[in-house]
Amino acid sequence: MNRIGIIFAMKEELEATLEKLEVINEFKIFDLDFFECKYKDKTCVLVECGIGKVNAARCSQILIDNLEIDVILNVGVAGGISSFVNICDVVVADKLVQHDFDLRPFDYERGFIPKVGKYINCDEYLVKLASEINIDNKISIGTIASGDIFVTEEMMGKKINDKFSALCVEMEGAAIAQICYLSNVPFLVIRSISDSPNGNNNITFDEFLDQSSKMAANFLIQLLNKIN
Ligand code: SAH
Repeated sequence: MNRIGIIFAMKEELEATLEKLEVINEFKIFDLDFFECKYKDKTCVLVECGIGKVNAARCSQILIDNLEIDVILNVGVAGGISSFVNICDVVVADKLVQHDFDLRPFDYERGFIPKVGKYINCDEYLVKLASEINIDNKISIGTIASGDIFVTEEMMGKKINDKFSALCVEMEGAAIAQICYLSNVPFLVIRSISDSPNGNNNITFDEFLDQSSKMAANFLIQLLNKIN
């Protein structure tokens, strides 16, 4: 895994990682700006995909089709919906689900996508490497739920935690997972907690976006050190 695609939804998340790498080349595909970076013996291709599942899926396919990457990492922030995670903790997904995908009228379980499934597993080797990293006991591994909703209502957070046993919610990870699954590309999603749904967590989000993005970037660098 020497050529690593890294997708961020937002500028703040991208910049927290860009600061730590040496940019060797910049280019554009459509509206997307790509930063090719060196980190030790690895080449990383960083890109800000924009918010939401469609942007994330489209960007993943562009990376796969044009840039000969061996693996995709998705790095950013998320809303904590489990009592086990706190602001600025890191959550590494072992699997992802789309909490807003709903074909229940046709007898599918909530979140089940025909020909894909309900949960999509992250690459086992990457999850194992991630599980060996310890930053002050602030790392959890578990399910991440994605959907095209910024979750603010506490009840919605509780429901998603209850239905999918998810540790956090965000808006891109499971879309990237689906594209990687369909294209047979290994992937991992790494998020740091920026907020927790409580009615006004958009304020907490703004307050902790930079700090949580830095946590996620720190974790990413530790992971890059371990990937062979
Ligand atoms: N402030 C941005 C919008 C942020 S949307 C703007 O004005 O453009 C929230 C982003 O952070 C998404 O990319 C999502 O993946 C993640 N996220 C963080 N907390 C979240 C939450 N509570 N619910 C859903 N997504 C969340």
